[in-house]
Amino acid sequence: MHSRFISHVHLPRLLLLAALTASLAANGQTPPAAQQLTREIYRELIEINTVTATGDTARAAQAMADRLLAAQFAPADVHVFQPSERKGNLVARLRGTGARRPILLLAHLDVVEAKREDWTVEPFKLLERDGHFYGRGTGDDKFMAAAFIANLIRYKQEGFTPDRDIIVVLETDEEILDRNKVGMQWLIEHHRDLIYAEFAFNEGASVGLKGGKALRVGVQTSEKVPVNFLLEAKNPGGHSSLPTRENAIYRLAAGLVRLGKFEFPVQLNETTRAWLERAAPLEDAQTASDMRAVAAGRVDAGALERLSSKPVYNAQLRTTCVATLLQGGHAENALPQSARATVNCRVLPGEPIDEVQKTLVRVLNDDQIALTPTWIHVSSAPSPLNPEVMKAIEALSARFWPGAPVMPSMSTGATDGSFLRNAGIPTYGHSGLAMNVDDIRAHGKDERILLKSFYEGVEYLYELVKMLSTGSQAQRPASQ
Ligand SMILES: [Zn+2]
Repeated sequence: MHSRFISHVHLPRLLLLAALTASLAANGQTPPAAQQLTREIYRELIEINTVTATGDTARAAQAMADRLLAAQFAPADVHVFQPSERKGNLVARLRGTGARRPILLLAHLDVVEAKREDWTVEPFKLLERDGHFYGRGTGDDKFMAAAFIANLIRYKQEGFTPDRDIIVVLETDEEILDRNKVGMQWLIEHHRDLIYAEFAFNEGASVGLKGGKALRVGVQTSEKVPVNFLLEAKNPGGHSSLPTRENAIYRLAAGLVRLGKFEFPVQLNETTRAWLERAAPLEDAQTASDMRAVAAGRVDAGALERLSSKPVYNAQLRTTCVATLLQGGHAENALPQSARATVNCRVLPGEPIDEVQKTLVRVLNDDQIALTPTWIHVSSAPSPLNPEVMKAIEALSARFWPGAPVMPSMSTGATDGSFLRNAGIPTYGHSGLAMNVDDIRAHGKDERILLKSFYEGVEYLYELVKMLSTGSQAQRPASQ
């Protein structure tokens, strides 16, 4: 620390500043200097192109490491790993008393491609306009990355000693679910000791806003598993002027029609049951009563039918498999020798993939249609609802977004939280970022988030992590 350099003349002013900073923090407001730093870090991250295929996450990881080192973090606590060219991961640690096991804060550095000609603004420049921050990654996922780094620096500057280490991991290649094993899987394999934690926060659920009002605060505990199957029917083919009864396209088409009429059975877990119960009050009377009936396990065919007709609810109730690509034949005047379809499934966590495959074979009901899994993302069991985590989120959310229920959720898309869950670290998708539910632009063009949500979310994450790393928090009032 530098306190020995401070003369007594300056001490009262410093104390005043410290008191002011403390009172600002107590009121849930980020001190201006911390706000500015967070914005600078955010800008730096947005303006480093980290598109998964062509960008440079190693540069972004190093830039964040430099920030931490400049803020007096020990080099032994700041690691940049570069498993391959342009691919970087950062692991940083704020040391605590060690009374409890660490907490892990995870964000990904890579972003989805953004073509200048598709956008109306520069994708790799942070732009502030109409109450928004624009730029690729503003929401997915550089908000969390910037907030975690800036907050870690803020804790350090305040001299905060957590009762557990706070680990920040910024990883690469999440957007392709770490297909080349240079991101989270690499870290788990090579540096498990550095990232080991009691639980983790990751992307996966945000705060839903509608008309400026917070609807719900999401806590993602679980994700469905994406699996692709290739279906293929073959035939010797021939001249189309001499058609045969046997036809690869007809065979495949008939199988797909059977699949289109099929629904997997309803199966709820702790998360989806809680989600249905808590989302019910936000719906109209009929839907609410249907949701409660299904959550309670009551046999009510009407309720199930009505809920299943809505894609968002249907996806929570069951595994889904849908045809997404179709291809067949080789010439306009030839009988098809082959017809192929891709079926994309989103499998409920815990449901064995080979069971899903058996079900598909039974439904297609044609031994001439070959079925092959072409891609299976890792499956992970839902993270249990940790009471300490849920209590902290509920207390803090009540202050930041009064009246919005905290809702455990299962993503129908995938993140690499699954790798962490399988490594024994319960993982909660919880960004603290309030986003307009009608203006979701992640992966799309002109990605943006609300300025207000940015500052609010940074402060929320600051307080949440502090609450969960302060031993006496249970005795303190949860709100001011
Ligand atoms: Zn993301």
